[in-house]
Amino acid sequence: MLRRTAIRKLCGFSLLLGLGVFLTACNEDDSGPVSSVPAVPVSTSPSRVAITVDDLPYVTFGGASPEDGLRYSESIVSALGEHGIVATGFVIGRNINAETRPALQAFADAGHMIGNHSWSHPDYGNLTPDEFLEETRQTDEVLAEWIDGPKYYRFPYLRQGETAAKREAAIEILTNLGYQNVPVTIDNDEWQFNADYTEAMADGDTDAAAIIGQNYLAHMQERTSHFQTLAVDELGGDVDHILLVHLNQINADHLGTLLDWYEAQGWTFITVDEALAHPVFSRAELYEGPRGLSQIERILGGQREQ
Ligand SMILES: [Zn+2]
Repeated sequence: MLRRTAIRKLCGFSLLLGLGVFLTACNEDDSGPVSSVPAVPVSTSPSRVAITVDDLPYVTFGGASPEDGLRYSESIVSALGEHGIVATGFVIGRNINAETRPALQAFADAGHMIGNHSWSHPDYGNLTPDEFLEETRQTDEVLAEWIDGPKYYRFPYLRQGETAAKREAAIEILTNLGYQNVPVTIDNDEWQFNADYTEAMADGDTDAAAIIGQNYLAHMQERTSHFQTLAVDELGGDVDHILLVHLNQINADHLGTLLDWYEAQGWTFITVDEALAHPVFSRAELYEGPRGLSQIERILGGQREQ
């Protein structure tokens, strides 16, 4: 993970060089606003995408207060609403308390679906099936008042166990509790950008934060293009996608711009329910191992270009 100082030093230039996407200017000698630094445009063929938001009530990185969390939630809800999106939010059970509850409630009150993201956000690879059952069941109990319909589960870190047998044990537990696993097709490193963004904002360094925000957008666009191309080239056709983002500060400030880009590329927003109906989510997986991967990569056996 590049630290903020490194990003600052590089002026956002080389973070994405390896991906063929980069910002074209260093801001240190510029008089204009950093946010106007142009990025090389990324384009993709259009498809359909469901938006999923992890780690509700909100990401606490950087010591975010309940007021911060509520602002993140309201801002993300607003961006989703402007695009007519019904998203699904995945909740870490133990993070719900009287102070954090308003952020979760704001998300649910806007009509978005609520799903289970474990009790304490463990790596399933480190749990026994019994511990996994307990993690899932505890959160299922506290979410009862928010879930009125299909039950969705998201594995923390997207890690589904290192062997096929261990994965099947989890899926059986989820099925018995009435849950459906919700994989991700457009995996990304958005959380890293959020960490750097949050640090820059805490330091009052809005120039650095603006560069990180632009890099975040370029990264998300590139990941979208990458997985759409992978699906078309390697799976033999278009698929319905599921995008992973978090309820955090960088999305509070930039998700709306990212959704604008999807719309400009001709993409259609769908629900998780609609996405899961696509045959790609019932295809056999070649990948067996501990990593958290895109479902497309799991089907293909774990290939990832970087
Ligand atoms: Zn998570």
